[in-house]
Amino acid sequence: MIETSKLKKSYGTFEALKGIDLRVEAGDVYGFIGPNGAGKTTTIRIVTTLLEPTSGVARVDGHDVREDKELIRGMIGYMPDNFGVYRDMTVTEYLLFFAAAYGIEHRNRASLVSGLLELTDLSVKKDALIDNLSRGMQQRLGLARTLVHDPKVLILDEPASGLDPRARIEIREILRELQRMGKTILLSSHILPELQTLCTRVGILERGELVAQGSVAEVVAQAAKDAEVELRTTDDARSQVVAKEVPGVLDVTRHEGEPLRVRVARDLDLAALSGHLAGRGLYVRHMVKRDPSLEEVFMTLTRGLVQ
Ligand code: ATP
Repeated sequence: MIETSKLKKSYGTFEALKGIDLRVEAGDVYGFIGPNGAGKTTTIRIVTTLLEPTSGVARVDGHDVREDKELIRGMIGYMPDNFGVYRDMTVTEYLLFFAAAYGIEHRNRASLVSGLLELTDLSVKKDALIDNLSRGMQQRLGLARTLVHDPKVLILDEPASGLDPRARIEIREILRELQRMGKTILLSSHILPELQTLCTRVGILERGELVAQGSVAEVVAQAAKDAEVELRTTDDARSQVVAKEVPGVLDVTRHEGEPLRVRVARDLDLAALSGHLAGRGLYVRHMVKRDPSLEEVFMTLTRGLVQ
């Protein structure tokens, strides 16, 4: 649905995008992750036709962003990161205003607005002044506004930034509902734990390069060279030494009162580890392999950039 090929963007001599190949399929919730300055907003602005690429191609539903600007804009609902609202209007007035601006027929506007308010859980606030809404509610109103023309594709730049955990969860639930409605969603964010449960696919951008892309599981597997095993045996102190003899065991650390933490190559067969220990009279009481979280992968891939 959104596809870029060797997409580059330079600002003067600075190359902000170094040839990225983004793939967002129809129906995806695609998490576009990267530290500040990685180039997320630049990519999003190109895809939404607001910025010309320096070279390479970007398409939305097969249409080139350089050639079919109007068509693409009609297909996309875009919420920028510095999304502003007109504060001295009521919630309903605001959405009616945008319904008119998008050319929705007069007789259909009221029911459209009431549907959007229900979807974004703002019906009780329909007559409230925007100025009196919480930040989370204003963000939901922003989301309602991007849905006025029933776009197939939603592009949301940092939709959860600056929100408290509860407000973030509310946004996430609305995004889930939009996913069920069949929308394709591209969202950029730093807030990884929320993304992990919502996204069907993710792309990790670092200094203008897409360093990983795929399902969360694929990206974790692609990025993580080793895994960690929690281990308890009949004698942890001795096992710390003995485990290190097994090929594929990279390191073993021990903290008082906790299981041993064994760093292993991802392809290590755990039976080889327990077998070797048993051969020395050490019996496994607890052994769990733990894959890194998306957050840990992100930190590894963007090391040096994240403070
Ligand atoms: P953030 O999370 O902070 O919004 P980002 O990943 O969206 O970051 P971009 O805003 O796309 O990153 O910026 C990418 C790089 O390009 C940054 O180093 C930024 O300073 C630079 N940049 C962005 N816009 C311009 C511009 N108009 N002129 C010059 N440099 C720019």
